[in-house]
Amino acid sequence: TVISNHLPTAELQALDAAHHMHPFTTNNELAERGARVITSGKGVYLRDSEGNEILDAMAGLWCVNLGYGREELVKVAARQMQELPFYNTFFNTTHTPAIALAAELAKLAPEGLNHVFFAGSGSESNDTNLRMVRVYWAEKGQPEKSHIISRKNAYHGSSVGSGSLGGMAYMHAQGGLPIPGIHHIGQPDWWAEGGDQTPEEFGLARAQELEAKILELGADKVAAFIAEPIQGAGGVIIPPSTYWPEIQRICDKYNVLIIADEVICGFGRTGNWFGSTTMGIKPHIMTIAKGLSSGYMPIGGSIVCDEIAEVINAIEFNHGYTYSGHPVCAAVALENLRIMQDENVLDHVNNVAGPALNAALTQLGDHPLVGGVNVKGMMASLPLTPNKATRAKFAMDAGTVGFMCRERCFANNLVMRHVGDRMIISPPLTITADEVEIFHKRAKTALDETY
Ligand code: PLP
Repeated sequence: TVISNHLPTAELQALDAAHHMHPFTTNNELAERGARVITSGKGVYLRDSEGNEILDAMAGLWCVNLGYGREELVKVAARQMQELPFYNTFFNTTHTPAIALAAELAKLAPEGLNHVFFAGSGSESNDTNLRMVRVYWAEKGQPEKSHIISRKNAYHGSSVGSGSLGGMAYMHAQGGLPIPGIHHIGQPDWWAEGGDQTPEEFGLARAQELEAKILELGADKVAAFIAEPIQGAGGVIIPPSTYWPEIQRICDKYNVLIIADEVICGFGRTGNWFGSTTMGIKPHIMTIAKGLSSGYMPIGGSIVCDEIAEVINAIEFNHGYTYSGHPVCAAVALENLRIMQDENVLDHVNNVAGPALNAALTQLGDHPLVGGVNVKGMMASLPLTPNKATRAKFAMDAGTVGFMCRERCFANNLVMRHVGDRMIISPPLTITADEVEIFHKRAKTALDETY
């Protein structure tokens, strides 16, 4: 029995405030408001301790891709816990869940990406990548080819390594990030930064910042470029069509490895198994987590190309986590991938949920507060603005209107997140057309109440 069934909400909130330090939160402010206590979930709905049914248009943190309450995942976890709850993969041992999951991922990944290094999260996986690309070049006799180029406003995790790869200024402002050897170029955010340029001109210009940075550092110093195919936490920023082809050309030309961070884009969110396919990228490494297990268990990893694996597998790579390839997490991930295939979740995204979401968002785009609609598959953002034509910012502090809208969503039993003044949508991939309609109604009400 869960504790929440027994304690009144206020008591839970008081305990939470007294002892629980929340991530990315001003805990004292939260203590005054009282955190909303989530007690259970089914399908696309969450239930809170007051009995409200909340439509989760964020799939948790972009991860509960199959929705809540999937019995098959629960059963597999229970069975695996009984059979083998833990064993490591460090010292000449392996186990079936890790073997089977690695083989399945090699099958699903684009050609040439056939090797998996497991971790417990996206952050850990990007830490793996940071070290792996440097070790790769060192083993190739180029130890100075160690610099990594990323982008401002990128999100790659919250550890010291992955937070440094990320380009969030407010994270860099705390705790001594970024570590040396990591550089950040501009992001392809036409909406906020494109000015009078067309999206295509702007996309090309932003990609060419990569070439300028490589030339500034020296191509023999640059190990890799890391990017999400579509930035998620930065605000669902879909690059203009000119961006990725130019990035690919530049990386090919200067022998710079591409790390595609697929933590959000992977496993169907953009309509293909991987965002790299959707955006036409040929990565050397893909970071995975979140949708890999639909968030039911913490698991991540790096899917590595043959060329890098050949070099890394020839040495002892002094890196790994206790929970690399954790058997219960791996078994649940494998079952998640089985369900996705057996239920044709990608077809559902491309033919049902995606078109329904697109239509709903297009209608919301007519709302006077909404300045545009950015959507690819099942990830989307609605930038809010006082002036659609000029894409103007609000007179209030950035993020104030977005926060107000998020609060109105929550009051209407809808989870939409805000990044600054952009509303973010990333529902479970299994959402039905009827549920999208409910999303639409609640989102419209929240926008009306914010206006
Ligand atoms: N990379 C991307 C693109 C992410 O969106 C996230 C998390 O939101 C991460 C990495 C970090 O993953 P985790 O929170 O599992 O460490």
